[in-house]
Amino acid sequence: MAIREILTVPNSILKQVSKPVEAVTDETRALMDDMLETMYAAPGIGLAAVQIGVPINVIVMDLAKDDEEPAPKYFINPEILELDEEFIPYDEGCLSIPDVFDTVDRPKRCKLTYLDYNGEKVTEWAEGLYAVCIQHEMDHLKGIVFIDHLSRLKRERAIKKVQKAEKLKATG
Ligand code: ZN
Repeated sequence: MAIREILTVPNSILKQVSKPVEAVTDETRALMDDMLETMYAAPGIGLAAVQIGVPINVIVMDLAKDDEEPAPKYFINPEILELDEEFIPYDEGCLSIPDVFDTVDRPKRCKLTYLDYNGEKVTEWAEGLYAVCIQHEMDHLKGIVFIDHLSRLKRERAIKKVQKAEKLKATG
């Protein structure tokens, strides 16, 4: 396993539409292992493959609280089947947009289907933080980041903030 570099906005790779995975192989699992390690190290609760520069439909997530056992979840080729009509606001953040948080309204629940770590098909309802997180991560697969849901002013401000921080990091 290895920690990979997480791309930040406005990297154009983050705008790419990810491609479906044709077969779940050891290579797919090795990628997911790296993604999970990268996500834990960040630390974060969700990561899409495109965020480490691999535009394929793969997501990892762990919503366990600090005092709970790790509970990694893996999603290959996830699809939303149904969305709740009721929306809830949630203060979102993203590893590709460090230190920026803002409120996004998303459907409260969603029914999704995906392949798990072993390539087995799973269909289930997600709600609460799980629903928010999977919708946020699935946006990444379409080349969308959460600040795209905000006003243009807020989006530009967020990108400038990230660029400034990156520049400071580069110059030490
Ligand atoms: Zn994100």
